[in-house]
Amino acid sequence: MIAEVLIEYNTKNIDKTFSYLIPPILGPELKKGMKVKVPFGRKLVNGFVLDIKPKPTDIKYELKEVNKIVDKFLVLNDELLALADYLSTKTLCSKIWAFQTMLPSNLKVKDKKYNLEKFDTYVTLNTSDDKVKEYILNNKRSPKQNEILESLLQTEKLKKNELGSSVKTLLAKGLIKEEKEKKYRLNYTGETHGTHTLTEYQSEAYNEIKKYLNTPKTILLHGVTGSGKTEIYMTLMQEVIKNGKTAMLLVPEITLTTQIVKRFYEVFGSDVAIFHSSLSMGEKQDEFERILKGEVKIVIGTRSAVFTPLKNLGIIIIDEEHSENFKQETTPRYHALDMASFRSKYNNCPLLLGSATPSLETMARAKKGVYKLVTLDKRVGSSILPKVTLVDMAIEMRKRNPYISSLLKTKIYDRLSKNEQIILLLNRRGFSTVITCQNCGYTYKCPNCDISLTYHKSTNNLRCHYCGYTVFKNDECPSCHEKSLNFLGLGTEKLETELKTMFPIARIVRMDTDTTSLKGSHERIINDFKDGKYDILLGTQMISKGLDFPNVTLVGVISADTSLNIPDFRSSERTFSLLTQAAGRSGRSETPGEVIIQTFNPDNFTLECVSKQDYNKFYNYEMQIRKKLSYPPYYYLVSIKIISNDYDKASSESLKVKNFLQANLEEKTIILGPTTASMFKFNNTYRFQIILKYQFDNKLANTLKELDKKYVGNKDVYLEIDNSPLHI
Ligand code: ADP
Ligand code: ZN
Repeated sequence: MIAEVLIEYNTKNIDKTFSYLIPPILGPELKKGMKVKVPFGRKLVNGFVLDIKPKPTDIKYELKEVNKIVDKFLVLNDELLALADYLSTKTLCSKIWAFQTMLPSNLKVKDKKYNLEKFDTYVTLNTSDDKVKEYILNNKRSPKQNEILESLLQTEKLKKNELGSSVKTLLAKGLIKEEKEKKYRLNYTGETHGTHTLTEYQSEAYNEIKKYLNTPKTILLHGVTGSGKTEIYMTLMQEVIKNGKTAMLLVPEITLTTQIVKRFYEVFGSDVAIFHSSLSMGEKQDEFERILKGEVKIVIGTRSAVFTPLKNLGIIIIDEEHSENFKQETTPRYHALDMASFRSKYNNCPLLLGSATPSLETMARAKKGVYKLVTLDKRVGSSILPKVTLVDMAIEMRKRNPYISSLLKTKIYDRLSKNEQIILLLNRRGFSTVITCQNCGYTYKCPNCDISLTYHKSTNNLRCHYCGYTVFKNDECPSCHEKSLNFLGLGTEKLETELKTMFPIARIVRMDTDTTSLKGSHERIINDFKDGKYDILLGTQMISKGLDFPNVTLVGVISADTSLNIPDFRSSERTFSLLTQAAGRSGRSETPGEVIIQTFNPDNFTLECVSKQDYNKFYNYEMQIRKKLSYPPYYYLVSIKIISNDYDKASSESLKVKNFLQANLEEKTIILGPTTASMFKFNNTYRFQIILKYQFDNKLANTLKELDKKYVGNKDVYLEIDNSPLHI
């Protein structure tokens, strides 16, 4: 027999398998999907066995032999092998790169660097009970020894390191023996309890979804914030597990896993495995192994958890499905939703997408009936959706309140005096290359593409990075005629200082990428805030989603404009979702919540929809724009970036790329550009961009593959192809 082995060289040039003979001693053990060592050139390299088959009779040359099996426990099953195929086709990445992506770092194709296995050592009796009793009777000198033996007569085993030194004598005498037991770092051993009884509305939604268990249907659960979606997920999982199957829950951010995992541990105990990027290598390996061995029934994790080897999936759930974190922004540029959809079909199980603000793409599919739509428009219990107020910051500027409006200030004082908690959201500063008037909030926009223009210092002009439209920049604002262009945003740190001066008695905690770089720091901040150790939680996007703090009754959004002005056609959608989610953190229990949103654009339609918390109104309006300008969901997009250290090369190659596309794609596909990419000069490279808009194009897949191949190995120019980019 021979093995077809995909080896670890990560270049697209050798993206194929090589045949190796299977030596007789490996014969019975070697399985498809195993990691092996094989000779390649003059070296030994690692690879994956993708197939085992009889040796063809017509091979003329001599085959080399598989050297050894690297990891006996690691066997990628057929589903994961198929998933790797799908991943590499979908994202144009090499197959070996697909495996690298699917496996936790310590199990990647390269050699294992550390031995991460942990064990607990136990002792058990090594002889008959009678002999032990006899020993105890005769042993008058060491009561300690007797104590241990007495205990072992009662319980089966004891942890060795808790027993002191007498254990050594007993071991030497052969009365007891050691036993090593694999120790998992994250195994939950606390108490468990059942789920809440679903409310009438939750039950309705649950029953609707339950109909689709054992079908590969994709279902959208559109439920307002606080409607109890998580509770429905848990009840569905109980049902799935009852039927002998497993379940997967993907959440967008590690920040969210803390609270959710806690709820799941309390219901499902050690049946739950966690999987996300901030686990240690050892924790990851442990969890992966428990999953591989079929010891867990539920996996909860971020994007990459979609590749975990759970067998016999009964449901896959993506919570906060609109979140952009489900898309990986480095090669391979995959979307977890596509991968989940593949696994849902493979396992004949439903894919459930949950969100209060579904992405337009998802909702459009649900409205067309491609997905099943289930709606929950009431919060659980007596809790109601919060009241949202927009504050015009142009007026506040004149009153010299550049950061915190007088209304927000009053409300913060009010909550502090009542011992209620406050969340303040400060969006990350938008692109500094977007010019905004500090006086009136005016931003230059492209008349063709409806996105903000980006400023190019070298030429002192503003350019649309979709279509290339250009205007010169004046000093004066075209709208209010003040000389106050160049507004740069405000950082969380600065705001924290402002707040401390304004509210000296308030206990403030900041949560952003600076304060959460240490492992466990998200968890600590969230728990401390929940425990009431702070009054104000100040943070970036990462605090807007999913968190459940019953004592928060006020949410303040410092500037809604930063995200509105990002030069991208999805900036309205992102703003709507971000602010609705943030608003959803307020008033989650009996005391009603309030939300204050500060903006220079109080008449903006998106903000109006946020203030009414009206998803459908926003959806209908935004869909019209998308239709008019041929954006998703009406058209699919591909972005092709042409990147080089050399400006002229980047520029001339991008024209060649365009010509190639024009010659090889169907005529109805729209080709925009080449133009400068949104981050034109980045890391000392120049980046040009071509955007494709298409509905159906039979030639597309092949053309992109051909194009990609042309640049493999090109040292001067690099192509970055993104099939359905989130940001263009
Ligand atoms: P969502 O995920 O839709 O924002 P959650 O599932 O977090 O909502 O539920 C909001 C709050 O309501 C949580 O504190 C949760 O424990 C509680 N809750 C949900 N369902 C029920 C129920 N059936 N009975 C009592 N409390 C519930
Ligand atoms: Zn344009």
